[in-house]
Amino acid sequence: MLGGLAKWLRAAGYDTYYAGEGTDVSDRSLIEKALEEGRVLLTSDGGFLERRPVRDGSVGFMKVPYLPLEEQLRLVVDRFALSRRPSRCMECNGELATVPPGAVSDRVPPGVLRDHEEFFLCGGCRRVFWHGSHWERISGRLERVFG
Ligand SMILES: [Zn+2]
Repeated sequence: MLGGLAKWLRAAGYDTYYAGEGTDVSDRSLIEKALEEGRVLLTSDGGFLERRPVRDGSVGFMKVPYLPLEEQLRLVVDRFALSRRPSRCMECNGELATVPPGAVSDRVPPGVLRDHEEFFLCGGCRRVFWHGSHWERISGRLERVFG
C-alpha cells in the first residue's frame, strides 16, 4: 500500500525496493532482503513487529500510517533524518545518468529537445526524463518536505 511513498523516496534519491501489491513476497523473504541489503523496512503492516530481526533491531523498521502521501513522506524524512539526493527513477529505482540532448534526440519530441539542455537516462528501464512541468511539480513538493 506504500507504492506512492516508494516513488517519492526514489525521487528524493533513495534506493527503494517496493514489493508491490499482488507480488507474492513473504514477510520472511522481505526481512531477509532487508538484512542482506541493509535496507530499512517501511510497511503499513504491523505484523513485522513480531519478527525477531525487527524486534531486536537488526532490521530498521517503521510502520507508516495511512495518511496523505506528503505527510507519510514527511514522517519518514524526519524519522531517518533524510536529505535530498540526486533523484533515482521513480518507476524502477534505477540510477539516472545526465546525458546531452544529442544522446536522446531520437527519443524525445523536437519541442522538448529544443527547450532543454539536460536529459536523464535511467540505467534500469532506459526511460528518458527531463525537467519539464511534471518534474517541477515533483521537485516543488520535495522542497516543501525537505525544506
Ligand atoms: Zn527506470
